[in-house]
Amino acid sequence: MQRSTLVLLALALALVFTGTMRTDTQARKLKVHISVDMEGVAGAVTGDQLGPAGFEYGRFREFMTREAVAAVTAAKEAGATEVVVADAHGNGENLLIEQFPPDVRIVRSWPRPLSMMGGVDQTVDAAIFIGYHASTSNTTGVRAHTFSSATLTRVTLDGVEMTEGSWNAAIAGHFGVPVVMISGDDAAIAEVRKVIGNVEGAETKKSLGFHSALTMTPQAAVEVIGQRVKTALGRRGEFKAYRPAGPATVEVSFKHYRPVEVLAYLPMFERTSSHSIRFKARDMVEASAIMEFIGEYQPDLTP
Ligand SMILES: [Zn+2]
Repeated sequence: MQRSTLVLLALALALVFTGTMRTDTQARKLKVHISVDMEGVAGAVTGDQLGPAGFEYGRFREFMTREAVAAVTAAKEAGATEVVVADAHGNGENLLIEQFPPDVRIVRSWPRPLSMMGGVDQTVDAAIFIGYHASTSNTTGVRAHTFSSATLTRVTLDGVEMTEGSWNAAIAGHFGVPVVMISGDDAAIAEVRKVIGNVEGAETKKSLGFHSALTMTPQAAVEVIGQRVKTALGRRGEFKAYRPAGPATVEVSFKHYRPVEVLAYLPMFERTSSHSIRFKARDMVEASAIMEFIGEYQPDLTP
C-alpha cells in the first residue's frame, strides 16, 4: 500500500471512530435524581436519630449519607452520567456533602421549588427515593407522616391518598421521569407500589410500630440499596412515569382548626370540612408550589 493510501485509511478510521464515540456518548446519557429522606434509613426509629436535638442525630446523618452515596455509586456503575441529590428531610441540611463524588450536585434547605424533588426537570431520566417512610394515613410504618407530622393528617391527589413517595412520583411524572427504585421500611415501599406500580425496593427495616422496627445494620442496608439501584437502572425502560390525569385536585387535612379557617379566606381554597381544604392546580408544579406555600408561610418569617 502507498503511504498516501495509508494516511487516508487512518483518517477514515479516525473519523468513523470519533463518529461512533459521539453517538455512543449521546445514547448513553443517563441523568439520575435521588431524593433522600431520613425516616426510612436503616436504624432510624424515633426523634433521637432524626433531628439536631436527638442524641444519635450526628451518627444517623452519617448513615443517611452512606445510603445516599451507595445509591450514587451504584447509579454510576449502572451508567449514570449525571447525578443530582436532593436533601429532603427536616432542615434539608442533613447530608454530609463532602462524602459525595465531586461531580454530584446537591440540593439543600428550604423553601425551594418542587420541595423534596428540587432539581428534577425534563433532562432527568430516572428518579430514586432513599430513606422514605409511609404516609400519615397509614396505620403502620415507622414515623409515618405526609410532609409534616406536626400539622397535616391527610393529603389526597385526585381522590387518591398520597404518601410523600407517590406525590413526589407525580412531580417527577410531570417531567416524564419514572421512579425506578425506593428504599425505606416495608410499609413505605408497599404504599408507594400500590399507587405507582411495582418499582424496585430496598427494604431497610420492618416496621413494628410508629417508633419501632426490626432493622438491618447500616452496612447491610448500603449493600442492598446498591444492588437494587443497579437492578432498577438496568431495567429502567420497564418503568413508566406516574402521571395522574390533570388538573390536580388536592385535598389537605390539618391537625388543627385555624390553618383551615385562615386558608379558606382565599377564594382558591374550598373548605370541605372543619379540618380540610381543597384546591385545584393547573399541574403538579403548581400543586407543589401551593403545598410549599401552605407549609412554609408564617407572617413573622425572617429574614
Ligand atoms: Zn418525609
